Amino acid sequence: MDEKRIRKNLRRATFLVVLAGVLLLTAGGLVTHYLRGMLRSTVNTQMETETKEYKERLQQRIKTDFQTLYTLSSFLEFSEAMDQDAFAQGLYESNNHNDFITMTYFEKEGLGIRAILNHSVSVGVELDTLAEELQDTVRKAWEGESAISQLFHEETLDDILYVYAVPVYRDGQVIGALTASHSASSLSDILNTPTILNGEGYIHLLNRNGEFLLRSHRQVIPEALQSVFEGEYISSETRTAMQDTMRQSGSGFFSFQYQNRDYQIYLEPLEVNGWYLFCVNTTRAASGPVYQLLLVTRGTFSAILALAVFLIAYGYRQLRKNNRELIRAAYQDPLTGADNLLRFRQNLQDALTQGRTGSVVSLNLRQFKFINELFGREQADGLLRLMRRVLERNIREDEFFCRNTADSFYLFLQDTRRETLFQRLEILTEQVRHTTFSQHHDYRLQLYCGVATDTPELPREKARDILLGQAAFALAKARTMGLDQIWFYDTELHKKEILENYVATHMEQALQNQEFQLYLQPKMDLNRRELGGAEALVRWVTPDGQTLFPDQFIPFFESNGFCARLDLYMFASVCRQLREWMDAGLEPIPLSINQSKLLFYESDYVQTLQQLTEAYHIPPQLITLEILEGLALEHVEELNEKITQLQALGFRLSMDDFGSGYSSLNTLGRLKIDELKLDRGFLLEASRTGHQRQRIIMGQIVELSKKLHISTVVEGVETQENEAFIRSLGCDYGQGYYYSRPLHAKDFTRQYMDPQGR
Ligand code: C2E
Ligand code: CA
Ligand code: CA
Repeated sequence: MDEKRIRKNLRRATFLVVLAGVLLLTAGGLVTHYLRGMLRSTVNTQMETETKEYKERLQQRIKTDFQTLYTLSSFLEFSEAMDQDAFAQGLYESNNHNDFITMTYFEKEGLGIRAILNHSVSVGVELDTLAEELQDTVRKAWEGESAISQLFHEETLDDILYVYAVPVYRDGQVIGALTASHSASSLSDILNTPTILNGEGYIHLLNRNGEFLLRSHRQVIPEALQSVFEGEYISSETRTAMQDTMRQSGSGFFSFQYQNRDYQIYLEPLEVNGWYLFCVNTTRAASGPVYQLLLVTRGTFSAILALAVFLIAYGYRQLRKNNRELIRAAYQDPLTGADNLLRFRQNLQDALTQGRTGSVVSLNLRQFKFINELFGREQADGLLRLMRRVLERNIREDEFFCRNTADSFYLFLQDTRRETLFQRLEILTEQVRHTTFSQHHDYRLQLYCGVATDTPELPREKARDILLGQAAFALAKARTMGLDQIWFYDTELHKKEILENYVATHMEQALQNQEFQLYLQPKMDLNRRELGGAEALVRWVTPDGQTLFPDQFIPFFESNGFCARLDLYMFASVCRQLREWMDAGLEPIPLSINQSKLLFYESDYVQTLQQLTEAYHIPPQLITLEILEGLALEHVEELNEKITQLQALGFRLSMDDFGSGYSSLNTLGRLKIDELKLDRGFLLEASRTGHQRQRIIMGQIVELSKKLHISTVVEGVETQENEAFIRSLGCDYGQGYYYSRPLHAKDFTRQYMDPQGR
């Protein structure tokens, strides 16, 4: 699998994990938030309802007490001339019948009567001697108000009391005040009934300043406090809000914190004396169904989330592990732990794309197969691992290498200069040679290196594959070169090798497919200034339309013997061409044909030529055989014999390329040839200014040839000056681009043989 894709998958998986986590958390959060809100509102409603119930009970209690007092007061209204003692006695008895603790009656601006439940009755009591709270209420009643006092400590009874006071009228005038007191416990009994909020709440009674009038036994904060605002349990903002509410006699919800827990408060005015009910919810109403639901939901969500996170994390880990293994398997050579070729190719592509130039080195151990057999597989594997370490030591930052197969390694080095590369590879070779392997086995390890250097000419999109191929090619070359070779890839050399390979593997087929085609180059008769003949030259037109020239394959064919067959094939082509002309009623011209020296070693050579000319009914006089000068050096006698035989049949003999190699005037004398072809090089040399001697020699050769009745042809006539020059020497024929390039036989026919197109 492709690494980029794996990484992409991993990123996607990560994204999904995070997304799923966030979604779950949000959903969980929303549900809990919703449930908590629902729970709070349920609990709040419960608190409010229950507090109001308590308020009603308290109010009821107070109302009942006032009613009792009103009844007594109206009773007093009509007992006009009652004497003090009798009145006191009446009050005492009445007191004993209700549950007031004390009762008093104070005539306006006078002394009063005070009865204490089941205790005593006193007359002539001075108001000033009694508790201030009581005095206040009495005074209010004298004003015609019904009043209820704050709680106060009654010393004689050692009890917390509160007092009701109502005015007593006679004839529409307030004549006195009747009071009755209760123990505060009668109210706190109500407050302490443990049923509020299913036993999870409690209620304090406060005055409008937030001071405790009655503090529930059940309370969160154990400290003895005078006021709810004392001890800073309630934050200052809440305090302000609460005070505002109380000033406006409103009700409301608040909260405070104690020991890291939140508590809900509900404030409800009692509408008596500015008193307030202060209800506290001590739990989150754990027993409430919504709370249960909340707990269940939250638990479920946490469980699902935990499970999901676990599963995702697990899956993710598995995926990572898998991917890591995949990546390792895909990109690593399991034996040495080095990168494999796939990875190398990717790295190389990246490097080239980033414009980092350098060289690819293909590296092999010499005789690795032998090492394998001699030292065993294990040792050989060890050697490969050792190689990896050596390579690792030798590469620099931004360079990399891989093990391909067996003992084949590829390196990318950032150098392009041959000398530097050579030095580095030599050092590397040296290090390999000094590895522990070599020291143990006394075996001289050797390396081959093939190096291909990146050049801007390489097409960028193919550069990688080209470089790898070139390095492999250079390595193959190095292998043939022997010990510790470092071979640099050479484009020209490579092209040549490719061509050679093509030529070697395709020649037979080409001959059968008639890919060898006849081209003709005119030979000008300098005296008569007309076409004096033509030379047959071969062209190999490959099936893909490429034309190969003789010097691309003739030397190779010479070396493998194929040239003899090709020449006979061309000989036949020449015969066929002459036949065609004759059949077409055209006057044939003499044709020259190149003959490999190989042919002269074939015993039936002369016979074959004879048969061919006979087969096509061609007079041999029309054919000139061009042989190379070199041939004459070796076996002059045999050659002369063959020449004589051929001449006897009517063929003309020409010595080709005279002056190109081992030119010797001697050959001229010894070989019985009919024609001498002066090599192109002759003309080239002679036409240079200052080469007077060359011109003299050429002139002498022409002279000599004339005397020996050998006609002369000068090759390579390219300019008018060339022609003028050879004409001045007295040459017979000229051949060269000045007249025409070699033409395909068809074109030649059209141009020179049959200009009218008969
Ligand atoms: P060559 O026999 O000396 O043939 C003349 C070569 O010189 C031809 O090259 C021709 O194209 C080239 N030439 C002609 N005029 C000029 C000129 O003015 N300037 C220059 N620079 N070159 C000129 P080509 O056809 O490539 O042949 C090369 C050689 O291959 C021939 O040299 C010949 O030795 C050999 N060859 C060609 N065809 C055959 C063949 O059928 N059999 C054998 N055995 N050898 C052949
Ligand atoms: Ca020739
Ligand atoms: Ca020649």
